[in-house]
Amino acid sequence: MEDFDCAVIGAGVVGLAVARALALQGREVIVLEAEGAIGTGTSSRNSEVIHAGIYYPQGSLKATLCVQGREMLYAYAQARGVPHRRCGKFIVATAPGQVAQLEAIIAKARANGVDDLVMLTRDEARAIEPQLDCLAAVHSPSTGIVDSHALMLAYQGDLEHAGGVLALRSGVSHAQCGPQGIVLTALDGTVLRCASVVNAAGLGAPGLARRFEGLPASAVPADFFAKGSYFTLAGRAPFGRLIYPVPEAAGLGVHLTLDLGGQAKFGPDVQWVDAPDDLVVDPARGEAFYAEVRRYWPGLADGALIPGYAGIRPKISGPGESARDFMIEGPEAHGVAGLVNLFGIESPGLTSSLAIGQHVAQLLATC
Ligand SMILES: Cc1cc2nc3c(=O)[nH]c(=O)nc-3n(C[C@H](O)[C@H](O)[C@H](O)COP(=O)(O)OP(=O)(O)OC[C@H]3O[C@@H](n4cnc5c(N)ncnc54)[C@H](O)[C@@H]3O)c2cc1C
Repeated sequence: MEDFDCAVIGAGVVGLAVARALALQGREVIVLEAEGAIGTGTSSRNSEVIHAGIYYPQGSLKATLCVQGREMLYAYAQARGVPHRRCGKFIVATAPGQVAQLEAIIAKARANGVDDLVMLTRDEARAIEPQLDCLAAVHSPSTGIVDSHALMLAYQGDLEHAGGVLALRSGVSHAQCGPQGIVLTALDGTVLRCASVVNAAGLGAPGLARRFEGLPASAVPADFFAKGSYFTLAGRAPFGRLIYPVPEAAGLGVHLTLDLGGQAKFGPDVQWVDAPDDLVVDPARGEAFYAEVRRYWPGLADGALIPGYAGIRPKISGPGESARDFMIEGPEAHGVAGLVNLFGIESPGLTSSLAIGQHVAQLLATC
């Protein structure tokens, strides 16, 4: 058995950001990743949007960590040469009842400290984005896009520069939590004893935590999987900004995002699935996209949408239930010294990653 100070389970954008923050505090850190490369999970299957922090309930971790994380991310990407662009986004009302929803979105954003939203009339919006059809729009200038892979490589670089270690093909099978520390057993039989463990296993985090002996069952939420499929646009992007409809219950609606190469894609939709590895895009789902997209872009041509990729949201609330906040729990919440679990780190987890890293490092510094 080897002894380690801190182990972070999972090398997605959040696990790497947490490991980086701990290593920068001078702690000895090992990241244990099941796959053969970093960032092969949800962190490579998202919209790569730097969210402003608009939609989340006031005082929630999602709101606080998104607003903090967004500014940290812009500054970090600028300093480290991580490709990104503060391109801005429009949230568009396409039915009369939705104009009032835009007003409510502005008020909610303001409560979260996002005070740069601007309401635009139809004509003002169309003067900026001529192909857009809407009744009114909200402009969010602090929304942007980032190259998530370059970001994760930068986090890994910081981690290793600070003396941290990344162990690939090192899936954790189970753990025993006790007064002598947390003993992790890897799938290959390797055993590590750690003073601190951060469970950042994404879609696998609740399932893994259920195999932590000594952690109360009540500390682990039920897990649900909400798949989101994307369709890419053949041809040139019609807009220079991201275009979002008003949000839906389990996602942000079928929106248009751009990547840094200027490629436009639509999605993600919401499809509840039973397994976290159900990642094939069903071309038939594209049919519903045409109607949704044409509400704000009537110029979408038949046959222009091509099946892209899918990601799965690590949900801790099920179909029909209201969305839950990020669940980031340390010893004060569950009673196991040295352990932090991260559950339900769906959007805006990428945007919030640096702020989550700082938050977890603080939780472990005070225990
Ligand atoms: C469709 C979609 C769109 C999104 N769009 C955005 C967006 O535009 N902006 C934004 O801010 N956020 C977005 N998000 C959210 C964001 O992608 C996630 O919050 C973030 O990627 C989560 O990172 P993570 O490190 O927690 O998880 P992951 O990236 O899933 O990483 C978890 C890692 O743990 C590893 N692992 C699992 N089990 C074990 C084990 N037992 N032992 C060792 N390793 C293990 C996995 O292999 C994986 O590498 C989106 C999410 C989805 C699904």
